[in-house]
Amino acid sequence: MDSEAVDILIAGGGPVGAALALALEGSGHRVLLAEARSADSNGTRNADSAGARSLAAGDARAIALSYASRLILERLGAWSGLAVTPIEAIHISQQGGFGRTLIRAADYDLPALGYVANYDDLQRSLYAAPCSARRLSGARMTGFDGSTATVQTQEGPRIYAPRLTVFADGASVAEEHAAPAYNKDYRQSALVAWVKTEQAHCGRAWERFTPGGPLALLPHGAGYALVWTTGLDRGAQLRALDTPAFLAELHASFGDRLGAFIEAGARSAFALALRYRREETRPHSLAVGNAAQTLHPVAGQGFNLGLRDAWELARLARDTREPGSGRFIDGYRRARALDRRAGIGFTDSLVGLFSNSDPLLKLGRGAGLLALDLLPFARRFIARRMIYGARALP
Ligand SMILES: Cc1cc2nc3c(=O)[nH]c(=O)nc-3n(C[C@H](O)[C@H](O)[C@H](O)COP(=O)(O)OP(=O)(O)OC[C@H]3O[C@@H](n4cnc5c(N)ncnc54)[C@H](O)[C@@H]3O)c2cc1C
Repeated sequence: MDSEAVDILIAGGGPVGAALALALEGSGHRVLLAEARSADSNGTRNADSAGARSLAAGDARAIALSYASRLILERLGAWSGLAVTPIEAIHISQQGGFGRTLIRAADYDLPALGYVANYDDLQRSLYAAPCSARRLSGARMTGFDGSTATVQTQEGPRIYAPRLTVFADGASVAEEHAAPAYNKDYRQSALVAWVKTEQAHCGRAWERFTPGGPLALLPHGAGYALVWTTGLDRGAQLRALDTPAFLAELHASFGDRLGAFIEAGARSAFALALRYRREETRPHSLAVGNAAQTLHPVAGQGFNLGLRDAWELARLARDTREPGSGRFIDGYRRARALDRRAGIGFTDSLVGLFSNSDPLLKLGRGAGLLALDLLPFARRFIARRMIYGARALP
């Protein structure tokens, strides 16, 4: 393809970049999606965006998709073939303290609060949807000078001068070539694994805040996707345990509500950080998804927020022939500012509030959870924020 033929170049075909390529269908722009991994990649990977780098081979990550994400994926044609487990309720509690709350989909007239899918299945489903954009695999963007992009393909380097380059690469290229990022290392890791308990999940997710960090169990197939946040040393210890010892530790941290933990799949871990790009307008490029903001997984917001980035960008791009203009990029930034800030702020405050064993904070948390349980409007506010983000979509 010669460089003149591309209007929008998307660097990075992870779930957000792939969704953007689909969302741009019918926009009238010639779109090229360049993904670094090769087509025969089996979907496992060693790293996602910076701030969430895999510490072990393989990726057992499951993604909790919000109900709003389902609506978007349906419109993109990437929903019907996707294997998901519905989340009908979320139980939130803290270890060693009072207060708990239950958020139920039925209270909001929704079939589910969200759905749990494998990261790799989500990716495959997005690639299986019909798309007229050119999708190159084994194509890594290696340079961007503010308007011209170099992409290393299997046939050698290619130079493109698109109107707009969208960084959807997690962080690698964007870090070097886009506006500088804010970076806060949480000094925590998220251990992920599929686990099974004595009792069936019945569609209920559990979020348990422990002094070492939050522990989430998301209904996934016949068991749960575990996301267990701990300090780095504790995370390494947990990964090194044999399966019976690991299951016993998990039981001790989670408690007895689901009976014993009886099975665990492969464990992998991600180091966690908050990273986000400062809001600056530069013509010809912008970032979406984890390249724009990488969040702690505590609230399951990262992909959901990134998908809304992609959806909004494509919506605005339909109305312009100049998607690289400063005016367009400014409009996009303004359109996404509230949702983005709310997602970053909400997630970061949850980490600060709940990864802490201060007795006063524990009391406050208990009171907060109790209040949430007693006050339907407060619960509705939190539930809506998790389902739709700060802007109702689509
Ligand atoms: C443990 C854990 C649990 C999570 N749980 C949830 C959850 O429940 N719900 C939720 O919404 N989010 C969750 N997230 C966050 C979610 O995984 C990310 O927000 C999401 O993967 C971001 O997608 P992305 O496409 O922006 O980036 P990525 O998934 O990082 O994909 C980036 C892509 O770009 C490619 N790439 C990299 N460099 C280049 C280059 N130079 N050129 C071309 N291609 C390149 C990579 O190969 C990759 O395919 C979780 C994250 C973690 C770590």
